[in-house]
Amino acid sequence: MKDLKYLIYFEKLLEDADNELVRKAKAEGKLALGYSCYYVPEVLLDLPGCFSTRLRAPRTESTDIATYYMTNKICSYTRSILEYAVTGGYNYLDALLSSETCQMMHRGHEHFEILSLVKENPRFFLTMMDVPFNDGEDALAHYEQQIETILLQPLHERLGIDIGEEAIRSAVEEHNRLCRVIGAIGEMRKERNPVITAYEFHVINVVSQVCPKYLILPYLEETLEELKTREPDPKSQWRARLVLTGSEMDNPEFTKVFESCGAYVCADRYCWGSKPGREEIEIGEGETALHAVARHYLRSSKCPRFMPRKNADERLAYIKQLAEEYHADGIVYESMKFCEFWGYERVIGTHLMTGESGLPVMGLEREYAVSSVGQLRTRIQAFIESIEIKKLNDSDKTIGGNS
Ligand code: SF4
Repeated sequence: MKDLKYLIYFEKLLEDADNELVRKAKAEGKLALGYSCYYVPEVLLDLPGCFSTRLRAPRTESTDIATYYMTNKICSYTRSILEYAVTGGYNYLDALLSSETCQMMHRGHEHFEILSLVKENPRFFLTMMDVPFNDGEDALAHYEQQIETILLQPLHERLGIDIGEEAIRSAVEEHNRLCRVIGAIGEMRKERNPVITAYEFHVINVVSQVCPKYLILPYLEETLEELKTREPDPKSQWRARLVLTGSEMDNPEFTKVFESCGAYVCADRYCWGSKPGREEIEIGEGETALHAVARHYLRSSKCPRFMPRKNADERLAYIKQLAEEYHADGIVYESMKFCEFWGYERVIGTHLMTGESGLPVMGLEREYAVSSVGQLRTRIQAFIESIEIKKLNDSDKTIGGNS
């Protein structure tokens, strides 16, 4: 396929947290608000006058300093974020809006304050929201109250951000515009011979989370138009289509490893993915924008930290639905080493989904940095071969049954 016009530019934007568009927004007087977890509503960090930037630690291989402070039993995403902060990678931040959604990241973010990691910006502050462990009505009321008092009020009082109804509605509008673009591009992955590679989609979705929305949107909209007329390869190069689900995944190089084995990641159901993640926020009749935002994030997340049986069943059903909609041949559950929530989900999901979906399912444990690619590639190749054997066996049975 012909190269996408902005792919190299997007890749460049992912080389540093403090990228060209972040610097441009800062130069225009916008405030940079960092976050890492889906439960900190991205849309509220994009209120007029500020912009959200989800924390990544690009090109961080060693986590020696972070390990010294946190031990090596902490997930490597958390340690990489801390390492990147220690080396000054987030000095552009005006605030870090955090949440007690997982203890590891909670502890990691505390170091921003304990070690005064954000230099050069005396107004920098950290807040930590408490996020409930279920999505019932009481939990929603608590979550909304936390957003209001721990996130919005400090933004208003310390940085002068307008947190009124109209300001939130306008942020929701811009957010939905971006979701429509990413959603439309993501839908293209349903084709058997898609006009976008999974790697390209991963890059596009990640830049949409780390760059100021108003600056990245024009590039994404142009990319969507370009894709509408892009000619696919004459013949599909993919040996298998996979739903990839699991913990934090902000490095498109990981998707590239799958592609190098002939696997097309047709649906990205992981932290930082678009399923869920890029659904529009609907404000109901008579509902406040804040309530709609709280409802949306609490009930759309599908995060395994919700342990009730009802939520666990919904997650399985969602994966199954994605596998059907995106014509997947297999499912991969990945989890970051030492990630408690996804560690359980990976083991349970790998076991149950095999029967539920009738598809081959693989569990994969990994680190944040894409380093030991050889081992990863061997596992993926073996999995693809098992999918191909299953397809052959299934078609033999069909032929046998028809004869
Ligand atoms: S990968 Fe798991 S342990 Fe690490 S920050 Fe995410 S939820 Fe927490």
